[in-house]
Amino acid sequence: MKKNCPNSNCAFPKNFIRDGSFRRKEDSKIIQRFRCKTCGTRFSNATFTTTYCQKRRRINFPLLKLLASGVSMRRSALFLGVDKKTVERKLPYLAKRCKELNQKKLETFKGRIHNMQLDDLITKENSKLKPLSVTVAVDEDRRRILALEVSQIPAFGHLSKLAVKKYGNRKDEHFNGLTRLFQIISPNQIPGNVDVHQISPQLRQILSVK
Ligand SMILES: [Zn+2]
Repeated sequence: MKKNCPNSNCAFPKNFIRDGSFRRKEDSKIIQRFRCKTCGTRFSNATFTTTYCQKRRRINFPLLKLLASGVSMRRSALFLGVDKKTVERKLPYLAKRCKELNQKKLETFKGRIHNMQLDDLITKENSKLKPLSVTVAVDEDRRRILALEVSQIPAFGHLSKLAVKKYGNRKDEHFNGLTRLFQIISPNQIPGNVDVHQISPQLRQILSVK
């Protein structure tokens, strides 16, 4: 862990000394404190961690396992004995951490991905009249998610007329979503000789691949 004085205006951020410690009540760990000799700012080993200011560090990993297994947020809160608001606040943090870890893992695959599968699933915002398309690119051999993009699409089938009447014209962002997805994965992950023949006819049409 790289430690520096957290004060951004500090002239000599590396000039700090140990300044006691405290026992963190939440997980019973002894945390070292420091004091900057230049500006007097006090900080600790906890200042630089990703869980800084969290009050329920112990549930981070169990909660991740529950949420990743399809358990609902309310039920997870009940299992772990915390408020549902805590779960609600933890979700963006866990998502960010997982994204970082996945990104780190993906870097080790650079140029070694030979088979990739793309799939789209349709879900909705708050009504079936506002559908969303979630495009996922998966590494077939390692079964890892390479990228995931969500894009809004207009309602289709028998709901299309009702959707226009109720919510007006809905922009089709699917192509932009796919473009973003390919921008994420193409520079690093995919070698030049991609076999595009296994792409479904609909996707081929979207990607304008012959
Ligand atoms: Zn300082």
